[in-house]
Amino acid sequence: MIHVRPDLRALEGYHSAQVDVAVRLNTNESPLPPPVAFRDAVAAEVSRVPWHRYPDRAATELREALADLHRVDPAQIFVANGSNEVLQTVLLAYAGPGRTVATFEPTYQMHAQIARVTGATVVEGERADDFTLDAAEVERVMHDHAPHVVFLTSPNNPTGMIEPRERVEQLLDLAPGLVVVDEAYAQFADWTALDLVDETRPLVVTRTFSKTWSMAGARLGYLVGPRWLVSELDKVVLPYHLDAVKQIAGRLALRFSGDMDRRVRQIVDERTRIVDRLAELPIDVFPSGANFVLFRVGSGEGPTVWQGLVDRGVLIRDCSSWPRLTDCLRVTVGTPEENSAFLDALTDVLDAATASTTSPKASGATA
Ligand code: PMP
Repeated sequence: MIHVRPDLRALEGYHSAQVDVAVRLNTNESPLPPPVAFRDAVAAEVSRVPWHRYPDRAATELREALADLHRVDPAQIFVANGSNEVLQTVLLAYAGPGRTVATFEPTYQMHAQIARVTGATVVEGERADDFTLDAAEVERVMHDHAPHVVFLTSPNNPTGMIEPRERVEQLLDLAPGLVVVDEAYAQFADWTALDLVDETRPLVVTRTFSKTWSMAGARLGYLVGPRWLVSELDKVVLPYHLDAVKQIAGRLALRFSGDMDRRVRQIVDERTRIVDRLAELPIDVFPSGANFVLFRVGSGEGPTVWQGLVDRGVLIRDCSSWPRLTDCLRVTVGTPEENSAFLDALTDVLDAATASTTSPKASGATA
């Protein structure tokens, strides 16, 4: 009988409850499909794909289009199947057994998860109670652990907070290894670390098509980094990992940046509306620069409130059993109608809880 690697035995994997309800605001996707003109353009090009041939291994046209968007050289762009595969490739190349990867918790769980799968040791720095990151903590982790790779997520998931520029600059000063800034939600924020990328710094910025570009179904992400680093990633990733259809879809999506910018503005407006309404309720709301909002309900009430929302046809993310996130729930900004449905349902659940403090707790809430 073969057993899994001993170091993987304790890993739990990454789960998000899949519940069939009308309003799904749990996975930070775009609430709208891409524009019809995009779908038509993809269909027309896909009808001409030479299916019997491998795709362009270097994804040349897609990389050129992304390089154009960010005004960098195509050799600074690495593209993969979702930013998760980008992160995995970075960690395969720069982490692995005998190496150390640092995160500042709470943050996106896949950073530590993928690092552990590569065999690396993960050290967890701590954010303050309000989820901001102290300069002293960055200094401590860099000094005590000298990590080969360190992650910052800006805006952070699941907290929604934007990391200040000075924190990224501090890390660039102190980190002895590679700094990865995960910008999956950067379009919803007010600054990006992209202009810090150059040939002299071990810094990469990762992005995704899953949120702003309404293409979570396609699985496409990329990074911008120094040329010398991208060429190492090209060695590590599997040949022809990016299929022809995805390369077409990614390239054509970039022609619709005007539509996407309008959608981002609508989501940011709706985020403001959600935060303002949540501020009137008896809960704590954390400031967000992303397309989701984290909030904390009364002590011990996280799973009950989550279940109450599900019972009213609204699915959000239950983070309440995650380390450091007791009683926290995260809602993705949806369409105005979905957001209203969520806000009404939450108001109702909290009213019901106040009316009857003896209501029995639901089971299976954190499935
Ligand atoms: N980074 C962060 C911070 C995320 O929240 C997510 C999606 N949940 C990803 C990366 C992965 O995105 P994808 O693989 O869909 O590009």
